[in-house]
Amino acid sequence: MRKTIICIDRDGTLIHDTRDHLFLGRNNDWKSKVKLLPFVVDGIKLMNAIPYSSIYMITNQPGVAINDYPLLTVDRAREVCRYVFDIIKSKGAVINDFFLCPHADFEYIKTKPNAAFNKNLVHENCGCLKPSLGMVFNALKTDGTMPENADLYVIGDRSSDVQTALNINGTGILIPFKNEPGEEEKLTKLENQADMHISSTLLEAAKFIHSRVKTSA
Ligand SMILES: [Mg+2]
Ligand SMILES: [Zn+2]
Repeated sequence: MRKTIICIDRDGTLIHDTRDHLFLGRNNDWKSKVKLLPFVVDGIKLMNAIPYSSIYMITNQPGVAINDYPLLTVDRAREVCRYVFDIIKSKGAVINDFFLCPHADFEYIKTKPNAAFNKNLVHENCGCLKPSLGMVFNALKTDGTMPENADLYVIGDRSSDVQTALNINGTGILIPFKNEPGEEEKLTKLENQADMHISSTLLEAAKFIHSRVKTSA
């Protein structure tokens, strides 16, 4: 039996990721800033209806590595993930589990010249920061599924999400939300060589996966 494993990014894909909401969890009023994006619940419900499917939330949280946000610990970042997971569940849509990467790499550090970083969380190759595959492998392990027995999708708002899919011969689905400097260039490169699809909402992404599952069945 082949499984459909869908990994979904958190910020900018499941919930709003605006400048104001950056580093969710760094303040104590973070819960009021969590807002699901349109069609997220419908999209996940449709994915839940795909036979032998599992859904995992995978999120880079390099803000945890920044010393300037003492409240944003690994535990806090997990709490935020759990909260998003619970909101979605309360609306009748199921995410199986979630994984986060609390590390910052040198490329990230360069984008924050005024921030002080926790050296213990700075890694050039932690193995879990997307587009590395650590969180996807965690999802597969939790699922009890070997990569060769899975059709893998990674959905997100960044080129790194799409690249994560491609790094495991999966399909990347981009739902553009807010482009960072340099994003457009990275995406153009991916478009030319990749199994990458662009959707406007998570529901559209779910419909695309449905159509794939039907044609391969
Ligand atoms: Mg994102
Ligand atoms: Zn990591």
